[in-house]
Amino acid sequence: MTIGVKKVSLHRTARDQVFLPAILEGLLTSARHFFKNTMTKGMGDVDTIRYGEPDVDIKTYYPDRFRGVHRLMYRDDGSVRCVACMCCSTVCPAKCIYIVAEDRQDNAEKGPASFVIDELKCVVCGLCVEACPCDAIRMDTKQHMTPTERREDAVLGKVELMSRGGPSVATQGGLGPEFRAVAPQADPRFGQ
Ligand code: SF4
Ligand code: SF4
Repeated sequence: MTIGVKKVSLHRTARDQVFLPAILEGLLTSARHFFKNTMTKGMGDVDTIRYGEPDVDIKTYYPDRFRGVHRLMYRDDGSVRCVACMCCSTVCPAKCIYIVAEDRQDNAEKGPASFVIDELKCVVCGLCVEACPCDAIRMDTKQHMTPTERREDAVLGKVELMSRGGPSVATQGGLGPEFRAVAPQADPRFGQ
C-alpha cells in the first residue's frame, strides 16, 4: 500500500497576501471604538475599565471559578500542606512546576524543599489544583500575574506562593502527625 501526501492549498487571495486591507480594517475598528467611547458616552459607560491606573481602584468582575495566580496553603502550625507527591507537576501539561522533596521534621511525610512555578509557562488549565490530594495548591487568589519585563520575576518560589496562601480546613492525614500511629479502628473516619 502506498501512502501519499495530500497538499492542501491555503487559498490565500491577493488581498490576504498584501495585509494592508486587514491592517486598515483593524485601525478603523480601533478608531470607531475610540470615537464611540469618547464622543457618545459618559466616562461611566465606556466599553472598558480603568484597571491599573494610579488612584483609580476599578477592577473587573471575577467569577468565583476564576483561575488566578497560584498559592500554597498551609496547616495550623504554619507549615506548607504540600506533601511533595508530585501529582501536580506530573499532570501539568506545560511542565512548569518544579518540586524538590525532603523529609519533614516529624518524619511522618514528605514536604517540598523547593516548590517553583513558572507562571509564564503556565497555561492556566487548573489541572494542578484538581490533582492535588491535599488542598495544598489553589488558584483562587483572583490576582493576575503582574506584568513583568524580566522572566525571573514570573518564576514564583515556595515563600512567594505561601505568602498568598492561608490555612486550609480540608482534612489532611486525619488526626495530624500521629495519624500513622493510630490504629485504623480508632480513627473516627473509619468508625469506632
Ligand atoms: S494551571 Fe495547568 S499549566 Fe498552570 S501550573 Fe497548573 S497544571 Fe500547570
Ligand atoms: S501541591 Fe499537592 S499535588 Fe502538588 S506536590 Fe504538593 S501535595 Fe502533591
